[in-house]
Amino acid sequence: MELGNLYKEPHCRFNPLTRDWVLVSPHRAERPWQGQVETAKAASTLRYDPTCYLCPGNERAGGARNPKYENIFVFNNDFAALKPEVQPARHDDSGRGLLLSESEAGICKVVCFSPRHDLTLARMTVPEITSLVDIWAKEYSEIGSLPYIGYVQIFENRGEIMGCSNPHPHGQIWANQTVPNEPRKEQESQKAYFEKNHACLLCDYLESETQKGIRVVVENAHFAVVVPFWAVWPFEVLLLSKRHVGDLGSLDPATRTGLADILKQLTTRYDNLFQISFPYSMGFHQAPTDGEAHSEWHLHAHFYPPLLRSATVRKFMVGYEMLAGPQRDITPEAAAATLRNLDATHYAERLRQRNL
Ligand SMILES: [Zn+2]
Ligand SMILES: [Zn+2]
Ligand SMILES: [Zn+2]
Repeated sequence: MELGNLYKEPHCRFNPLTRDWVLVSPHRAERPWQGQVETAKAASTLRYDPTCYLCPGNERAGGARNPKYENIFVFNNDFAALKPEVQPARHDDSGRGLLLSESEAGICKVVCFSPRHDLTLARMTVPEITSLVDIWAKEYSEIGSLPYIGYVQIFENRGEIMGCSNPHPHGQIWANQTVPNEPRKEQESQKAYFEKNHACLLCDYLESETQKGIRVVVENAHFAVVVPFWAVWPFEVLLLSKRHVGDLGSLDPATRTGLADILKQLTTRYDNLFQISFPYSMGFHQAPTDGEAHSEWHLHAHFYPPLLRSATVRKFMVGYEMLAGPQRDITPEAAAATLRNLDATHYAERLRQRNL
């Protein structure tokens, strides 16, 4: 069968990073939709919110008070999921690994991207986002250098639909003693690919994507954003460094500016898609900090937005997806074309210019 026809019929696509498969059903994109309709909430327009626990000078739920910070503010999570001091222990209740548990040490931090309550990555300037990249790089290196930290996860959860109730621009850093599931799977795949092909999995993947261009959303001299061939979420993207580098700490100043630029370009297009502050979970995947060299690791970020066809209609991962495997209707090629063709200027900025 020709490729063009294969992609029009139900088919499975392989994810070489996790070695899972996703079922793609393009013909279902035409079926009538009778799903959930929510009302879009207006984005916050307050520069300072006296009730926000992340705004400068305000008191947090744990009782601590934020300084009157002027740029970026990092603090230890008041309700951390991980703690640095944990008594090392391992217990196998059954003796056969049926009820196996191990102690896990770690650190959880919160990073406020800006003192401005009303900003988002899309609305921040490239120099402001570059300062944030510098902070992420510094935290990765510092936390990663702690002897009991094997992996540093930097992420942002954006929008109420993703369970993030506070619109103040912020992200989190959770660092573990062990490498968690997703990066561990990707670690094993990158290593296996490297040993088999004497090349980097994501360098090779990026080369084939930029040659074809059909799944590329945006790119600059240092980074490219693609809807990955194996994408599960409708507008999921993979942000890839063009140079083979394992972590944010290894990026030079020009590349950090390049990362800030691509983050702004991508999040602007996301916001323009449904003319809302677009919800998503995003995070960087970087080389583990377990003391190994990890030359197989290629720095990248995943963005997982939940929305499907409007500001209020989300994709649910239920039924077949919970029990068997992920499935999507709109093809990654169609999603990439939609994102690529959106305006490069933020809709709120266009509105502002029109009203001047
Ligand atoms: Zn705030
Ligand atoms: Zn690479
Ligand atoms: Zn990854």
